[in-house]
Amino acid sequence: MSEWNQLTVHQCRELLERGTCSSRQLVENLIEVIHALEPNLGAYLSVDEEQALRQADAADALRRQGKTARLLGIPIAVKDVINVAGQPCTCASRILEGYRSPYDATAIARLRAEGAVFLGRTNMDEFAMGSTTENSAFHITRNPWNRECVPGGSSGGSGAAVAADEAIAALGTDTGGSVRLPASFCGCVGLKPSYGRVSRYGLTAFASSLDQIGPMTKDVRDAAILLGIMAGHDSRDSTSVAAPVPDYQAALQRDLSGMKLGLPREYFIQGLDPDVEAGVQEAIRQCERLGARIVDVSLPMTPHAVAAYYIIASAEASANLARFDGVRYGLRVKDAVDPMDMYQRTRAMGFGPEVKRRIILGTYVLSSGYHDAYYLNAQKVRTLIRRDLEQAFQACDVLLTPVAPTAAYRIGEKSQNPLQMYLGDIFAVPASLAGMCALSVPCGFTSHRLPIGLQVIGPAFCEERILRAGYAYEQTTAWHRQKPPVMAPELHLTDKNDNEL
Ligand code: GLN
Repeated sequence: MSEWNQLTVHQCRELLERGTCSSRQLVENLIEVIHALEPNLGAYLSVDEEQALRQADAADALRRQGKTARLLGIPIAVKDVINVAGQPCTCASRILEGYRSPYDATAIARLRAEGAVFLGRTNMDEFAMGSTTENSAFHITRNPWNRECVPGGSSGGSGAAVAADEAIAALGTDTGGSVRLPASFCGCVGLKPSYGRVSRYGLTAFASSLDQIGPMTKDVRDAAILLGIMAGHDSRDSTSVAAPVPDYQAALQRDLSGMKLGLPREYFIQGLDPDVEAGVQEAIRQCERLGARIVDVSLPMTPHAVAAYYIIASAEASANLARFDGVRYGLRVKDAVDPMDMYQRTRAMGFGPEVKRRIILGTYVLSSGYHDAYYLNAQKVRTLIRRDLEQAFQACDVLLTPVAPTAAYRIGEKSQNPLQMYLGDIFAVPASLAGMCALSVPCGFTSHRLPIGLQVIGPAFCEERILRAGYAYEQTTAWHRQKPPVMAPELHLTDKNDNEL
């Protein structure tokens, strides 16, 4: 048996508990697959085989002693922007080359406390700025469904690794869609938690009023499991909220009957790819057949969301990235004549073009004379967008929308036209600006056999609702089980009672 790599988190747990496989076998299997696929995929920036095998052996030893934990011995891949003690954290930037994390992020510490194994670091757009993973300073990542296409971004390495079964599950981060977009382009599940649900301590900050860490998984149950472990208050992140963490898995037991699903008129517009629209519409009909009620809602501020997002995110990025000055972390140019020369040349050398563009844009919109016209107005638009969504949630429980106007596109197609790329974030950024939660679930394929993602948006701290809706839909479809063409055939596993695992 050499297809353990195809398992989900909950399947791994079941098989590890039964003793069908060991954590070492699981990790060895993944390493073998990573070696075979990586030359064509590029999902990882680094794989820590030694540490992962050591953690796996420790987990197996604990299990032999009769100990268990929710993720004991289960390997998770981590986007290279979240600190894992002893591992690199480059943020896909030259400026952090050579840096090693001295500590675990809180989300990592919580997964580790449940026995998770940290296998490697996944590729991303530099500092999470981008929608395709083409902005990585090190290499691109290819879409497992079509290697000529982008995997989405900025958590494209995590999306590709999960879809290609190079990982059991992964973590991504979402500031304006970076978990949901690669999940939809690669055909896996991605969840952006509400702002304040998961601690960002140990996450390298991009835009602090938006950033969230989220799970990228093979099914909705796994997203519920990982979120349940990571969520909750942390005294080290003052924006993390003290609200109790519900039992997210329990929320999966409820079906769709009686649930009101809102369709925002402004999301089904011209420019929406016909295959994407057809896939999402069919998913909506399926939810209706499952007993949900469909209601029309309006989010009139939608056309302004992208502009507001790029002003606010860039403003915050320009402040957050000031810390990379050659003194504290990573790269420092040699033979500088004075400190100013050292700062300037280190930053000029260390940051890539998109990061520089954001720093310049962010500094500009915050500068005196322009602050009111750009930054302040963007903040006002942000409030109106939140009000739009709050009003929509008076009429429905969750919203159903496409994740993006298109499926994955060709590598290089939009990289020369930043504005066109930014516009692809139109359906993802409103939930981010409003601090609400959102889920991406596979809902079909285009005529070119590229995955399509259905977005389920919920009010802040209503993750149970989006998980319930996503799970009920997923259970009646097989999209999430389909495998990319180059990968191994589908694996069927059943429990003692012959139920599919
Ligand atoms: N594509 C968006 C950007 O480039 C979102 C990035 C993200 O969510 N990290 O800013």
